[in-house]
Amino acid sequence: MKDNELEIIYSDDNPAIEKDDSKCIQCGYCVRACRDEVTVLKMYDINQTREPVCIHCGQCANLCPTEAVHEKFDYLKLKKLLSKKDFVKVISIAPAVRVAIGEAFSLGEENYEGKIVAGLKRLGFNYVFDVTFGADLTIMEEAMELVNRIKNNERLPMFTSCCPAWVRYAEIFYPEFLSNLSSCKSPITMQSSMIKTYFAEQEQLDVRKILNVVVAPCTAKKAEVKREEVNRACEYFKVSGISDTDYVITTRELISLFRDCDIDFKTLPEEKFSSPLGKGSSAGLIFGKTGGVMEAALRTAYYFLNGKDLDRDAILFQDVRGTDGVREASVNLGNVTLQVAVINGMKNAVRVLDKIKKGEVFYHFVEVMSCSFGCVGGGGQPKLTLLEMKSRKNKRLESMEKEDSHSKIRLCHQNPEIKEIYEKFLNEPNSEIAEELLHTTFVDRSYLLGGGHHE
Ligand code: SF4
Ligand code: SF4
Repeated sequence: MKDNELEIIYSDDNPAIEKDDSKCIQCGYCVRACRDEVTVLKMYDINQTREPVCIHCGQCANLCPTEAVHEKFDYLKLKKLLSKKDFVKVISIAPAVRVAIGEAFSLGEENYEGKIVAGLKRLGFNYVFDVTFGADLTIMEEAMELVNRIKNNERLPMFTSCCPAWVRYAEIFYPEFLSNLSSCKSPITMQSSMIKTYFAEQEQLDVRKILNVVVAPCTAKKAEVKREEVNRACEYFKVSGISDTDYVITTRELISLFRDCDIDFKTLPEEKFSSPLGKGSSAGLIFGKTGGVMEAALRTAYYFLNGKDLDRDAILFQDVRGTDGVREASVNLGNVTLQVAVINGMKNAVRVLDKIKKGEVFYHFVEVMSCSFGCVGGGGQPKLTLLEMKSRKNKRLESMEKEDSHSKIRLCHQNPEIKEIYEKFLNEPNSEIAEELLHTTFVDRSYLLGGGHHE
């Protein structure tokens, strides 16, 4: 891709992003996002790939000032389905949505989860769940996996795998690291599998009659939920033709849905999530910001290693906090000291990955989030001007940290609904049924580069 090119070409089969050429004003913002921030555009040569390469992060769409580049819209299809009576309608909200939606209604970056729940119930959803539950579940599985890999000294460093844009980046550009990725599915795909198996059984619902929707800050989730290997309800119930997640809509699409349906967000009351997948710890909540997955996993790994919880004043891992592009820390977890790194934004990955590859650095555990600031800065979040971008994303992040500091449940394994699902259904982290429903596999996609590589 040459420097002076002002637009990105999108494949027709891109599952997350599309472009309406009639709205393009050739401003070049999409190129700037992909080339300078995400850096994917720098990583391949279109003469070799013949097709554009995309990790579905949506940063180009987020920066587009005219809606020419946008996420593949699903909210209009969803709106039509909401009037149908023959489905049980279930929706779950990802952590980062609640601290950004207020911006669209001149309310700022406080946590507006209560209003979102109220709005979704008015739209006709029967159950409104919290993906923070799915994040807690991810940590139960991932912290156990980390502890086991450290004990066995195998496949280190372990990389987080909850960001589908990072997973696709690794599949295309660094397939040599695929066995290092945590085998855990992401919070959203874990949540959806639990809705279409555990919840369906608990409520004695016909799984074919559940419409399951997720609201995410992320465009890459639209692609992730279509991956065959994350869809498990079909196999579990031996039925065909169902997906664990029927639709993912972005925060922006939810805002459009509320506006289209005349929901006055500002005046909505605060309502509570439904049960049994509606309670999350604040460790699960901070998944939505850079360093949050690392911190949540360390808190629970400490418990798995030592059989007791961290003291309240030791719960905050200050060294992995902040917003620097790469943060490294030595973390004491009782008898074990872990070397960890947090990569904040895709453009910061190359230098760390190449150093690991060359053996110049060693880490036990590495968090990678494609969007800068983590999911609070996701491609499906409300758009920001270049001037306000940094301060607004920081406010979203601070809002999550504030929630965590006030929370009564700051450890994923202390979430009562998590304890219940292991007692009733999953047995224990990394059990046979947990492996079947909550873990996944990855695919070497370096063939997409057509033989070209950035090196
Ligand atoms: S979605 Fe991300 S990777 Fe794909 S073109 Fe846009 S910025 Fe680039
Ligand atoms: S950082 Fe979060 S919002 Fe961004 S691509 Fe990854 S999962 Fe999606």
